[in-house]
Amino acid sequence: VKRIGVLTSGGDAPGMNAAIRAIVRKTIYDGNEIYGIRYGYRGLAEGDIYQMTIDNVSDLLARGGTMLYTARYPEFKTKEGLEKAIEQLKKFGIDSLIVIGGDGSYRGARSLSQAGFPTIGIPGTIDNDIPGTDYTIGFDTACNTALDAIDKLRDTATSHIRTFVIEVMGRNAGDIALVAGIGSGAEQIIIPEADLDMDLIVSEIDAGRERGKKHTIIVLAEGVMSGHEFAEKLSAYGNYHARVTVLGHVQRGGSPSARDRMLASSFGYAAVELLSQGKSGVCVGIRGEEIVYGDIIDTLDQKRESVLKPLAKINEEISY
Ligand code: ADP
Repeated sequence: VKRIGVLTSGGDAPGMNAAIRAIVRKTIYDGNEIYGIRYGYRGLAEGDIYQMTIDNVSDLLARGGTMLYTARYPEFKTKEGLEKAIEQLKKFGIDSLIVIGGDGSYRGARSLSQAGFPTIGIPGTIDNDIPGTDYTIGFDTACNTALDAIDKLRDTATSHIRTFVIEVMGRNAGDIALVAGIGSGAEQIIIPEADLDMDLIVSEIDAGRERGKKHTIIVLAEGVMSGHEFAEKLSAYGNYHARVTVLGHVQRGGSPSARDRMLASSFGYAAVELLSQGKSGVCVGIRGEEIVYGDIIDTLDQKRESVLKPLAKINEEISY
């Protein structure tokens, strides 16, 4: 009987629970044991570990957040932190570990692999900013949440003839902004992957006003600058007062979409399947509709190219 450990780390994302559920159920189905580690790498170093049963994951699929909790634990970057973690894994007799998280969590998984401990990474972050996969768990739900909020703001923008700057999350990636912006028909979508041309933005707003447009919706990725900074830049041009809405952490919460539940279940299943084939030191992902995996060291060395790149061109030509 093998003992697999699972933890969630870094920022939470809707669908992490669905991944945990799949990992727990598949491991038990295979006749092995599954150990939940609370609070990410911190809980791992501190031995906050328990054996999970099927009951632990009932009624879990539709819930946002992560039932294993998550934490930031900078000490994991040190030799001492890593050694503490490995000690606990040995103490509980855990043979391999599945880490669900973002870029930082992947680096932790890489350290464990390099120290000889069999580890697998699953991409879980709303930002969709991890190499080795087209999509991450939570991204689709976050886009839908942002889209819903923008639709609602549009009602007010139209009623009052107003300009709205809506700041969305995504860290250094513009993926949420692109999907939510194109999906909501925003007049402007501003992402870190494109050059910022304030003159062009202002001339497009003017052209819209001349055509009789009642409102301007500007979707801004947080990686460019804050919504308030952007509104200030805009008002320097004259009569361009904008209301600013920072969507913030609502984008991280909520019940996962069908797409995220499917993705999370597939990733969780694949990770357990890979371990049973004796594979580790890898991270799983999706390319097209296919579940894939790649070496975790190589993956972290890759420069991430967003699968949504074509949307940036579409944005340039249809959002104005
Ligand atoms: P995310 O996984 O969402 O990107 P963070 O960047 O905060 O979130 O990383 C989550 C945790 O992963 C950190 O608190 C730390 O415990 C661990 N971690 C991050 N970077 C490294 C690293 N270079 N080496 C080892 N562990 C790391």
